Formats: sequence, C-alpha cells, structure tokens
Amino acid sequence: RLGPVTIDTLSRADLQEFHDHQRQAYDALKQAGLALDITRGKPSAEQLDLSTELLTLPGADRYRAGTVDVRNYGGNTGLPELRSIFAELLNVPVEQLIAGDNASLSLMHDTILWSLVHGTPDSPRPWAAEEKVTFICPAPGYDRHFSICEHYGIDMVTVDMLDDGPDMAAVRELVKDPSVKGIWLVPTYSNPTGAVISEAIAAELAALETAAPDFRIFWDNAYAVHHLTDEQVKTADILGLCASSGHPDRPLIFASTSKITLAGAGVSFFGSSPANVAWYLGHAAVRAIGPDKVNQWRHALFLRDAEGVLAHMERHREILAPKFAAVDEILNERLGEHDVASWTQPRGGYFVSLEVPEGTAARVVQLAKEAGIALTPAGAAFPYGKDPRDHHIRIAPSFPSLEELRAAMDGLCTCVLLAAAEKALA
Ligand code: PLP
Repeated sequence: RLGPVTIDTLSRADLQEFHDHQRQAYDALKQAGLALDITRGKPSAEQLDLSTELLTLPGADRYRAGTVDVRNYGGNTGLPELRSIFAELLNVPVEQLIAGDNASLSLMHDTILWSLVHGTPDSPRPWAAEEKVTFICPAPGYDRHFSICEHYGIDMVTVDMLDDGPDMAAVRELVKDPSVKGIWLVPTYSNPTGAVISEAIAAELAALETAAPDFRIFWDNAYAVHHLTDEQVKTADILGLCASSGHPDRPLIFASTSKITLAGAGVSFFGSSPANVAWYLGHAAVRAIGPDKVNQWRHALFLRDAEGVLAHMERHREILAPKFAAVDEILNERLGEHDVASWTQPRGGYFVSLEVPEGTAARVVQLAKEAGIALTPAGAAFPYGKDPRDHHIRIAPSFPSLEELRAAMDGLCTCVLLAAAEKALA
C-alpha cells in the first residue's frame, strides 16, 4: 500500500506500517512451507547432463593414450593429452602444468601442508617451524580456503576484496611482516563477488617486495572459463608477471574441471615454476603412485581441445545465464526502490554477493531458514566465519531449477525487507 519507499526517509509511523506489511508478507511466506536451497555452488543435474558422454568413455577397448596404458599405475604429472588442453586455457606452459585427481581443493590443501611440514623450495625452514604463519585473506572470499588455514593454525588477516582485486594498500603493508607467507586469490569471477583481478593489480602482486622470501600467491583459477556474457575475460598471466619481476616461484596456480564436467569426478590442475613443480612432484610421489589416468583420458577424449572446452562452457552458460538474470531481476524488482541492499552482477562464475543493511545478514539468513529457504551461513565468506559488518550474503543460483530459484529469491527479498524494517525500528 505504501508503494516504493526508501526506508531511511520514513516517519516512525510509516516505518511501523512498512514493518507490519513486511511481517505479513513474511508470515505468508512461512505458511507456504517452502523447502528451497541456494547454499552451495553446485552444478544442476541439467548441467551435469551435458557431460553424460563421459560416463561411457573411454570405452572398454580404448585404454591406451599413445603408448600409455591408462589403467595402470604411474605418471604423476598426468596425461599430456589433457594437460596440453588446459595449458592453453590456463596460460601455463604444458611442462609446468600437472593434472591430478578430482579436487583442486586437495591440491591446495596438500601444498599448504607440505609447506608447513617441509617448507617450499626457497623457505629458510618449514613454515611450521616459524613462530607463526599468516595468510592474507581478501574477503568476501571462498570459505574453504579459510577453513584450510584455520585447520592448520595459520593466522588469517582480512583485506577487502574490491572490484579489481584485493585492497593493495593493505596488502603492501601486510607483506612487510615476515610471518605473512601467502595470499588467497580467485583471479577470475571470484567466489563470491565475481571480481576479476586486473592486469595492474596482478603485476603489482607479482612485483611486491615481501619480508618473507618464500611468499606465495595461491591463485585459485576455479572459474577461468566460466563466462556468463559474450565478454570472455582473460585471466592475468600471473606466472609470466612473477617470472619477469624476479619472483618466478611466487605463484601456485590451481584449477579443475569440477564446474566444467562432473563436480565430483573431474580433473584438477596445478601449475607453477619448474622449481615448484619439481617440489610438488617430489611430495606427490610419496602420496600416490599416480593419479586417475582413466579419468584424465576420458576427459581428453570428451573435451578434445581448448575450443571444445569453450564450446562446452557455452552450453553451461545457456543454462546458467537465465538463472543469474532472474536473480538480478527479482532483487531489482523487490529491493531496488527501497534502497536497502546492493548486489553484484557478475560476468561469470557461480555466485552473486548481496549486501544488506549492516547488522542484518545473520537475521536474514535466520528468517529465511525459518521460512524453508536455506542460505549459506552469514559470515561464511569471511575468515573465521565472522563478517565484521554482518552485511554479506552469498547467493548460489546454479543448483535449483529456475522456478525454485525465483521462489527462493522472492522469499529472500521478503526476509531482507523485514530485517531492514526491524533494524530501522529498533
Ligand atoms: N575454488 C573455488 C574458488 C571454488 O569456488 C570451488 C568450489 O566451489 C573450488 C575451488 C573447489 O574446486 P574443486 O572441486 O576442484 O576442489
């Protein structure tokens, strides 16, 4: 009845009326008995269906890749046939790119653990022998990066993740501390803001003088080819930039086909300098006799070449882009004129970041939960799960159907408005 209103400009009486109206809408939402989930960035079944052919590859009589019998042990570097496809896409020389098992997160975990226990090739001592180890964590960021740090007692220092990369003024200061050994970055279509690290910031990261001689950039390029628009953003060449700045061993590049083919049965990649690749292989040889080459081979057969990957990603885009458009449309329609929230319009990747009035994100998530809409816990995108401003919510549009997503987003908007009205009245 009030029509579009900017909450801040309302009189107390109008605010009360606005609140009561939102409360009624929320009570109706609860009555609807929804059971919706927009928590994790999983591909939908429709997306997984795009890779159904993988389930029949390589086929009973196709177990030789060149002279290699992929059924057998061995080959910790991974199959060259698949590495060459991703070397092109990830901009890493093929001899410096390793193909592994199904999860890049495992590779990140292992490189951290090996650095703690053994140190990196240029470490004065194992990281665990230092008084403390600190990582720079641009936030909002990927919660599982932060979980690895927390699990191994690595201190996390938060810096703001801006539209073109981390807040470099803060990073510049932090790297003067010799305990700062690393920074987490998702360079392209970051999780969860969709930010893309600019060439200029990548170049500055590569050239930084750091107090730790073995400072590492954990460059998690999980969404390198996950475009949502015609603009195919190209990731900055961190390997080349670091090498030309005299820090060839600084970047550790990670990627996988989890959101290209099958999320639970894809192939992971690790790329770095020759010294780091040798270091990786030395440790990997102790951990396993070789990766799942049958999986790597069927991926090479299925994807064929870099163009094949990009064409396949187009089909993902056809499924995903309408979902991202629906999220933006509903947020605009329901929240736009109330001036209570802002959100990202990512050009790729898997997430939308929604910013609600400070101090209300946890309340929104709770309201949504009670109405049958599961959201990622508020604060999840921040180190230690604590959003200091309690204002960030991560939306993952990929998994639900378009219809479910629309219902979830509409319900979420009701929760945002109610929480904002409650805060304004408090
Ligand atoms: N890195 C980022 C930034 C992600 O968002 C995800 C999954 O959501 C992963 C890594 C997980 O990758 P993988 O399946 O290769 O372990």
